[in-house]
Amino acid sequence: MKKTVERIALPSPSPGTRRELTVHRYGVPGARPRAYLQAALHADEHPGLLTLNHLIRMLDEARNPMIGEIVIVPIANPIGLSQQLHGYLAGRYDFSGGLNFNRDFPELGETVAGAVEGKLCDDAPANARMIREALASAVADLPRDSELKALRAALLGLSMTSDIVLDVHCDLEALVHIYTSYRHRDIAVELGADLGADVVLLEDEPGGNTFDETNAGLWWNLRERLSDDRVPLACFAATVELRGQADVSDELAAADAANLYRFLQRRGVIGGNPGALPTPLCEPTPLDGTDVIAAPVAGIVAYRKRLGDRVEKGEVVAEMVDLTADDPLTARTPVHSRASGLFFSRAAQKLLPPGASVGKVAGPEKLPHRKAGNLLEV
Ligand SMILES: [Zn+2]
Repeated sequence: MKKTVERIALPSPSPGTRRELTVHRYGVPGARPRAYLQAALHADEHPGLLTLNHLIRMLDEARNPMIGEIVIVPIANPIGLSQQLHGYLAGRYDFSGGLNFNRDFPELGETVAGAVEGKLCDDAPANARMIREALASAVADLPRDSELKALRAALLGLSMTSDIVLDVHCDLEALVHIYTSYRHRDIAVELGADLGADVVLLEDEPGGNTFDETNAGLWWNLRERLSDDRVPLACFAATVELRGQADVSDELAAADAANLYRFLQRRGVIGGNPGALPTPLCEPTPLDGTDVIAAPVAGIVAYRKRLGDRVEKGEVVAEMVDLTADDPLTARTPVHSRASGLFFSRAAQKLLPPGASVGKVAGPEKLPHRKAGNLLEV
């Protein structure tokens, strides 16, 4: 398949150094639907790097016609990828300012609302076109006076006008799971089925200005801001968690890339028949039905449950082992789940401080202790 490869230089962070984004583009610019994919915005999450590498190869060799446009940024965070400290890659938070790389993306709603207010008509595609033009102009005006701001502006510039945005991450040790808005439930179910996701988490207002929320939320925020239902919800964005940090292999990456390719066919971005939709492995569950189980005390975590186990509310998922206790028989503190559901995520490091996440259980019932507007992690 024909493509172009572009490099976007980021401002030099220190004399003699410079980083850049690599962008692979397929299809005619402006063709619809437009899909955007990126990997490793949290730079210590590597399964997506290999998966998008496989997807790029598949697209390069593909014989199916390109109907829309695909933009792939295979390394979304070259800043984070450079944060090596004594052999350990610290890729979640920015060394220079402490910010989580996937939080606090700039809000564009007010600027876009100002540009389109009073101009909406009854033609939804025309409204989407006009809003995207305003969006592109708002992104072009974002400040780029630091390397991180320039990176964020560049990523939004590449993604914000898309119909589909997939931000590929991974968890610590985990099954495949997806975060997206309840407003796009049908597409989420389709994506989950194609990817073989064990958990699909539907958010209401998760807060935090994550990358997926910034892209998709612009549209519903604009609808609310203008009190006008003619604003279409024209962007489906999801955070795709491709298992755990150690789950990096050609076998997994090739299968995940093939699944993403079929999803892009199913959404009409690529031509050809994707085949029947696989049977979903799960019903979507609310984000607020997920228990992030905190370690009650410091210690080594010894799991009683494996990933994929169903657990009941109150059940013990792990024990914290107090290595300082005189008597090993009394050295264990049980850790309980407050949700009934699927145990889908565990800690990678097994020595935990109090309050650290022991794991996550996704259940169908909203949990009373979960506050709306809170993401699962900081
Ligand atoms: Zn992440």
